[in-house]
Amino acid sequence: MKIESPEAYIDSMRGLERRIYVLGERVENPVDHPMIRPAMNAVAQTYAVGDEPEAEDLLFTKSHLTGERISRFTHIHQSTDDLVKKVLMQRLLGNRTSTCYQRCVGMDGVNALYSVTYECDEDCGSEYHERLKEYLRYIQEENLTVDGAMTDAKGDRGLRPADQPDPDVFVHVVERKPEGIVVRGAKAHQTGSLNSHDILVMPTASMRENEADFAVSFAVPADSEGMTFVLGRQPSDTRKLEGSPLDVGNPKYGSQEALVIFDDVFVPWERVFMCGEYRQSGKVVERFASYHRQSYGGCKVGVGDVLVGAAQLVAFYQGVDRASHIRDKITEMVHLNESIFSCGIACSSQGKATPSGCYMVDTLLANVCKHNVTRYPFEIARLLQDIAGGIVATMPSQKDFENPEVAPYLEKYLKGSGDIPTLERIKVLKYIENMTIGAGAAAYLTESIHGAGSPQAQRIMIQRQADLENKVKLVKKLIDLD
Ligand code: SF4
Ligand code: FE
Repeated sequence: MKIESPEAYIDSMRGLERRIYVLGERVENPVDHPMIRPAMNAVAQTYAVGDEPEAEDLLFTKSHLTGERISRFTHIHQSTDDLVKKVLMQRLLGNRTSTCYQRCVGMDGVNALYSVTYECDEDCGSEYHERLKEYLRYIQEENLTVDGAMTDAKGDRGLRPADQPDPDVFVHVVERKPEGIVVRGAKAHQTGSLNSHDILVMPTASMRENEADFAVSFAVPADSEGMTFVLGRQPSDTRKLEGSPLDVGNPKYGSQEALVIFDDVFVPWERVFMCGEYRQSGKVVERFASYHRQSYGGCKVGVGDVLVGAAQLVAFYQGVDRASHIRDKITEMVHLNESIFSCGIACSSQGKATPSGCYMVDTLLANVCKHNVTRYPFEIARLLQDIAGGIVATMPSQKDFENPEVAPYLEKYLKGSGDIPTLERIKVLKYIENMTIGAGAAAYLTESIHGAGSPQAQRIMIQRQADLENKVKLVKKLIDLD
């Protein structure tokens, strides 16, 4: 593995010359930009062995292509054990960072494409699967972070891609050349795109015959000519520019989304994994979505663990940890969090091999997993705010605590229980503020609704796989009906 440490990963990002815009200005040095670096630090944790005894076994594995030790983020799942370990790894990284560490989208993308390219080659006589394997060898060897880019800009949501007045709102092929293709369009809300070496594009929906140009999948280096990134804002994000880590709440780590624009980007054939096979496009969407819905059964649970810890700590700091209703609320938080985890583990252990050898999660259970994630984190956050109190939204700033004229008052009047220093209480409250209404809520709450597909997308999948006919048969058989 070429990149073997968090530091080496950060250094590798310095080498990329990209067109990145933040707050209306082009950023020449994104690596040290205070609004980007915390998100990059979160990705860097995927490169850290860490001190947890189970980390090595979860974060690293053996490549089925080369036999070498590789990051699980570049691995193709070879068993249900691999699927379970993926979820455990994600929970562990959620524990470390309390945010979205971004690297899973690429992992879920290559796994989805692995089985679909195999089946596409069987059906269409194409040669995408070998190309993808070659690409995998490369990202495994270099240990690259890959952004899995699916969601298109979409324009008028009532119109199909081919019917849009501006076809560019869906990424599509504008030219086919002997050496490769030229693509145009934009992928929106791209998690980790600023912190990735490569961008792996997949179609956003099941395409029809007249939409073959939109059935396109490829990988390009993030610094390819014609690419532009515009960072998306998060609530209270400019606190990161104030030099007051207390007010940031989770100052070391963050998440990141951006609009990724492809303005006639050239892609050589060896990096093209679908080009016109519209019948295969729906499969990529379904499989990628199911893998990423499984992912949430690990990552959001890992964040939830830290939030439960914050609830217990703030209750203690405020002298109410023994109150029965507080204990009951914390128990409810744990119950909700572990319910999500149970689904993540269930859809993994019920996974099955695809003809390519790559293991696929149980798609019904993966969708149930993510559907719970569209609700339970909100209830966990509500309970946490309930326990913490209204001070979550009324705290003075770090600079007030540093001002000798008011600091003694703040020390005296914002103090909690016993001899706990006031600032320790405030520190955990600022973390809760960040996670429930600040920048951290973008990853824990909004992403929980819309990441890996909005709630309705899961309901459609659940409905499709509910097998109601069989359930009707069961009741008829039980009570002797024809
Ligand atoms: Fe990974 Fe979770 Fe972020 Fe998706 S939302 S990239 S699964 S940490
Ligand atoms: Fe996500």
